[in-house]
Amino acid sequence: MTYKHITLPESGDKIAVADGKLQVSDNPILGFVEGDGIGPDITKASLRVWDAAVKQAYGGKRKIHWAELYMGEKAAAVYDGDYFPAETLQACRDLVVSIKGPLTTPIGGGFRSLNVSLRQNLDLYACVRPVRYYTGVPSPLRHPENVDVVIFRENTEDVYSGIEFAAGSAENEKLAKFLRDEMGCEFFEGAGLGVKPISEFGSKRLIRKAIRFAIDHSRESVTLVHKGNIMKFTEGAFRNWGYEVAAQEFAENTVSESDLWDKYDGQRPEGKVIIKDRITDIMFQLMQLRPSEFDVIATMNLNGDYLSDAAAAEVGGVGIAPGANIADHLAVFEATHGTAPKYADQNKVNPSSLLLSGVMMLEYIGWSEAANLINDVFPQVIEDKTVTYDFARQMNAATTVSTSGFADALIKKIEAA
Ligand code: NAP
Repeated sequence: MTYKHITLPESGDKIAVADGKLQVSDNPILGFVEGDGIGPDITKASLRVWDAAVKQAYGGKRKIHWAELYMGEKAAAVYDGDYFPAETLQACRDLVVSIKGPLTTPIGGGFRSLNVSLRQNLDLYACVRPVRYYTGVPSPLRHPENVDVVIFRENTEDVYSGIEFAAGSAENEKLAKFLRDEMGCEFFEGAGLGVKPISEFGSKRLIRKAIRFAIDHSRESVTLVHKGNIMKFTEGAFRNWGYEVAAQEFAENTVSESDLWDKYDGQRPEGKVIIKDRITDIMFQLMQLRPSEFDVIATMNLNGDYLSDAAAAEVGGVGIAPGANIADHLAVFEATHGTAPKYADQNKVNPSSLLLSGVMMLEYIGWSEAANLINDVFPQVIEDKTVTYDFARQMNAATTVSTSGFADALIKKIEAA
């Protein structure tokens, strides 16, 4: 495939998918989107750290060949006003694995969030957010080390599907009339109306991914988070389909929480993943009071959106929380915060969210040695109190460094490892 504005690196190999697995050479081409606002600062810093870790881990035998892709404001400049070029989507598909900085959602009639568009166009149905504690990071919890969860949030359905009708519109009136006259529903006059689709297909593919992850990473449990006591046929159905997919497809490797007590006296059988469920409201409380009880979480779009940011706050906030949007194989890793425009081009903000998303990406392509290297030196730099302004203001006697200065401190430790 030839592109109009994207230039692939002269050397390197595209990642392929064969037999349901990624085929990654020692010289893969990976895509990156710099992003808007603080995006260029955190991307530049992170690229240097990822490259240093790969070089150190594999003694120069492996190398990532980066291909710059364009979305957001930079795309608009290159593609004559187009913030969301079709060839960037095609390149994400062609390269299979990419990483992106934050993107501005331009304010103006009918402009959809670029992030939502990206997820929907590439059908990146699982938003994966690992939330773990790195020693030294400022946290409001007394025992933040007990937080170690990976949240799988369904990315394509729920009240985010965009099926909404404004109060007073002709469509709203038509739907309201149908609901009242044909379905016997009652609600106030002039209510805005939205639809919350939760399908068996969408729920099962997300929960299947979460269970597969738990099995592959020797995690103890998968918790289905839902408000099924109230929304029985959407959130309740999600819960039921979760238990169903576990029983039908992973019977060898999983045990339901009820069977755990009925058959195993509450003791987890060696190697089995416990499948349990919790109602959303109590889940928010439990994540603060007893986070060690949770391991992998699978939930729908809205619950997942709230829960991932709330959990991230327990271990340092969105400035540090990594994330990824993943389909069956195609994956776009991303910083979870926004573009923080007031800090653009100041070389000031914390690059950790994007940086640690890159660690997830290294793990995803099977380069765990390079990922581990960054995971090892990261807490050392934080414990040295060499941090960006956001952490420095929560610590005593910290040395405030710039975005690039933080990357320098990491690279120094990586090269000495
Ligand atoms: P934001 O960009 O995340 O910034 C909110 C605040 O969070 C900042 O003012 C800053 O706090 C802190 N922050 C964010 N990133 C940080 C970092 N790397 N290091 C340190 N602190 C950081 O949220 P927003 O202001 O609501 O949104 C701005 C734009 O971003 C909007 O156009 C929105 O659409 C877009 N957005 C994009 C994404 C995405 O691309 N995934 C996600 C969310 C929002 P202090 O002011 O306290 O220092």
